[in-house]
Amino acid sequence: MEDKRGRPLRDLRISIIDSCNFRCNYCMPKDKISFAESNFLSKKQWLTVDEIVKVAKLFTNLGVQKIRITGGEPLLRPDLPEIIRELVKIPEIKDLSLTTNGYFLKEKAEELKDAGLHRITVSLDSLNVKTFEKITSQKKVLYKVLDGINEASAVGFSAIKINTVIQRGVNDQDIMPLIEYFKGTNIILRFIEFMDVGNINDWNVDSVVPTKEILNIIQENYLLEPVEPNYYGEVASRYRYQDGDGEVGFISSISQPFCRSCNRARITCGGLFYSCLFSSKGFALKPILNQPEQKILETLKNLWLKRDDRYSEFRNQSTNKVNKAEMYKIGG
Ligand code: SAM
Ligand code: SF4
Ligand code: SF4
Repeated sequence: MEDKRGRPLRDLRISIIDSCNFRCNYCMPKDKISFAESNFLSKKQWLTVDEIVKVAKLFTNLGVQKIRITGGEPLLRPDLPEIIRELVKIPEIKDLSLTTNGYFLKEKAEELKDAGLHRITVSLDSLNVKTFEKITSQKKVLYKVLDGINEASAVGFSAIKINTVIQRGVNDQDIMPLIEYFKGTNIILRFIEFMDVGNINDWNVDSVVPTKEILNIIQENYLLEPVEPNYYGEVASRYRYQDGDGEVGFISSISQPFCRSCNRARITCGGLFYSCLFSSKGFALKPILNQPEQKILETLKNLWLKRDDRYSEFRNQSTNKVNKAEMYKIGG
């Protein structure tokens, strides 16, 4: 099954919650969404565990082999281990991963491993306490996140990834400290270009530090060589240190859009289907989940067949103004 641009459906991101204990300035800036915000979906509005499993199974029927659990902050959802236990039972799912801000990871890593989660990605934008506080709007969080990463490693997660969003003038000075911290560990650092997701993060192209610039900074210190993608549609371009000290990745949505091989669908915690990170409107799946399976599959199939998204290929300062879903709603 291919969309209008010949792209198969392989990867599903399920956002299981839209609230978060951080207020990262590029995602949920605290002047726009305060810590007292009450407009997040209530538990009653979330897809239940059964509904999440049902959605996952339906999507595997259409070709999905990889699922990422995201949010909001997924570790805030109490039934996360149960969700994982159920999703890993689906034989078609070859890869089940989770993206977290890492704050609760120290306490929860073992439970997640025991539940059968395959892989973890932790977001971390700085090793400087003040900068991290400035980005997340939370005090005393850096060491907790670092402890969480260590614990994930200690309980046996391998190939842990770190997502780092670099913003010019905010944390561009953190590139080399992060490189030094993770080089030679089994943890893979990935730099993500600051994206114009949603409408509240004051995105401006001048705040984006393009991959090329980050690569140049690293290569002034270490020799890197490109690595072939692991699979068709891999979002990160990968490089390895020539001295054998592991890998570093780059997700270059702004400078090198990857729409041509984009095989991802997204589901929000309230059950909206999105075919692109930059869509303005989702399709409400929750109300149709009681229909006969064949009927739901037909609906999903038609949604994919008419998919024509390639926002990143046309991005400019004015496309940024169109109404788009927020990252904490749609999931990263
Ligand atoms: N709360 C979890 C976390 O932060 O890892 C999961 C959800 S978060 C929306 C998923 C990923 O999206 C994170 O790695 C975050 O850094 C990234 N992200 C959020 N807003 C972004 C933006 N405007 N540009 C690039 N990446 C962004
Ligand atoms: Fe929360 Fe993740 Fe968004 Fe930061 S990026 S505000 S941790 S959902
Ligand atoms: Fe995929 Fe949309 Fe991003 Fe292009 S802009 S890579 S279609 S999510």
